[in-house]
Amino acid sequence: MPARHPDLDSLYCIREDGSRQTIHTADVGGRYQRRKKIIWALLIATYLILPWIEVGGKPAILIDIAKRHFYLFGLTFNAQDFYLAFFLLTGIGFTLFVVSALFGRIWCGYACPHTVFLEAIYRRLERWLEGSASKRERLASAPWGMSKILRRGSKWFFYLAISGFLAHVFLSYFLGVDEVFAAMVNPPSEHPAAFTFVLIFTTIIYFNFTWFREQLCIVICPYGRLQGVLYDADTVNVTYDSGRGEPRGKYTSEKRGDCIDCFRCVAVCPTGIDIRNGTQMECIGCANCVDACDEVMRKLDQPSGLIRYDSLRGIEQGENRFLRPRVFLYAFLLLIGMSVFTIAAFGRSPFEANILRLPGQAFTLEEKTVLNPFTIHLYNKLPEGHEFSIEVLEPVDAEVTLPIDSVELESLGDTRLPVFVRIPRATFTPGMRLQLRVTAGGQERIVEAPLLGPSR
Ligand code: SF4
Ligand code: SF4
Repeated sequence: MPARHPDLDSLYCIREDGSRQTIHTADVGGRYQRRKKIIWALLIATYLILPWIEVGGKPAILIDIAKRHFYLFGLTFNAQDFYLAFFLLTGIGFTLFVVSALFGRIWCGYACPHTVFLEAIYRRLERWLEGSASKRERLASAPWGMSKILRRGSKWFFYLAISGFLAHVFLSYFLGVDEVFAAMVNPPSEHPAAFTFVLIFTTIIYFNFTWFREQLCIVICPYGRLQGVLYDADTVNVTYDSGRGEPRGKYTSEKRGDCIDCFRCVAVCPTGIDIRNGTQMECIGCANCVDACDEVMRKLDQPSGLIRYDSLRGIEQGENRFLRPRVFLYAFLLLIGMSVFTIAAFGRSPFEANILRLPGQAFTLEEKTVLNPFTIHLYNKLPEGHEFSIEVLEPVDAEVTLPIDSVELESLGDTRLPVFVRIPRATFTPGMRLQLRVTAGGQERIVEAPLLGPSR
C-alpha cells in the first residue's frame, strides 16, 4: 500500500475507515525549539508554584466555588462580583484576537496548556521510554509480547501518575494547597467531592494526553475554529515559500526549486499536516517544520527560511503590514473589556450593607407604636477582617433596636442582624425612612429603607 501523505481533503489523524491514525511526531532541534523549552519550563513552573504563593495573606489565585469566594492577586471577589468575569474573559478573548490577527495561532504552539504538557512532559517521556518516531511506529504495529507490555505498561503507569499529579495541582486552585494535602492523607469518604474531582480530571487528562492528543486542537478547540475569521493576508503565520520551493523534486533532480521533497517538515508536524499545501486551520504555529526545514537547508548549503514565519503578503510582495484596521478594532475592544474590569474591580465597594424587610411582615400595629422589622445584611469584601459598626441616623424620635452595634467580620465573612423600629403611632407619617450608617475599615455607607404604617 502506498504511504499516506497529508492532503487538504481529509484529516491525517483519521483514516478513511474512521479509525485513529496515531501521529508519531519526529524529533527536531533548532532555535524555535530552544525558545519553546524555556517558555514551557517557565509556564509549568508557574502552574506548579502559583497555588503556594500568597498575596496579602491570601492565595494569589483561589476559586473557592463552595464558599463563592475568589482571590486574584490581592483582590477579593464574591458571588455578587461575578459579572466582572464577563469583562475579564472578554478582555482575555480580545487579547487572543489581537495576537491571532498579528501572529496566527502562536498561543497554541507556545503557551496553550495542552501543547505545553503534551510536548514538554508526555511526548518527552514517550521518547525516553519508547525511542524515536520510527521506533515508536514499529512498536505500535508490533504484536503484543513481553517487551511491548513492559514499554507500554511503564509509559501508561507514568502517564497516570503525572495525570493524577496535575489533577491534584489543578484542584489546589479551587481548594488551596492545605485542603488538598488534607484530602490526600485522609480516606476518600471524608472528602468525596475532592476525590471525585481528582478522579474525573485525572481520567480526562490521562485520556487526552495518552490517546486524544492533537484531535483536541483540530476537532474540539473553539479558538482553533475561529482562525479563519481572525486571519488576513498580513497575519504572520508559519508559511511555506512556494515561489522559492516549487517545483519540488528529488535532490538529484535538476529542474527543481529549493524543496527536495524530503517530507521532513511533515514528519515533525504534531498535527499531521503538510504546510506546503498552504496555510491550514490545523496548523498550531509550533514552528517544528521551520526548524526541520532550516536543518535540511543548512545541509544543502541553502539559505534557511524556505518555511518561516511570514504573512501571505510578505511571501508574495516581500512586505508586512502590522498596523491595520482589524488589529486596531480588536485592540480597542480589548481595551474596553480590560478598562471596565479594572475600573469595576478597583472601584468596588469594600463591603456590602443591605437592609431587608422581614418576609411577610410589612409592619405590626402595637398598642402605642408601629413596629417595622428588618434584618441588615453585612458582607466584608475586604481582604482582611474588620469591625463593622452601625449607627442609627433616622428616625430620630423612634426606638431602633439592634442586638449589637458592632460586629467583627473576617475577610469575605457575612452576617445578618435583626433591626426593630418602633415609631409612636401619633408621630408616624408616611414617607418616613430608616437610615443607618455602617462603618468598616475607614469607609462608611449609608443604607436606608422606607418605614411602613397605617395611612391616616
Ligand atoms: S523540509 Fe523543507 S525541503 Fe523538506 S519537504 Fe519540507 S519544505 Fe521541502
Ligand atoms: S505545519 Fe509546522 S507550524 Fe504548523 S503545526 Fe505543523 S509543524 Fe507546527
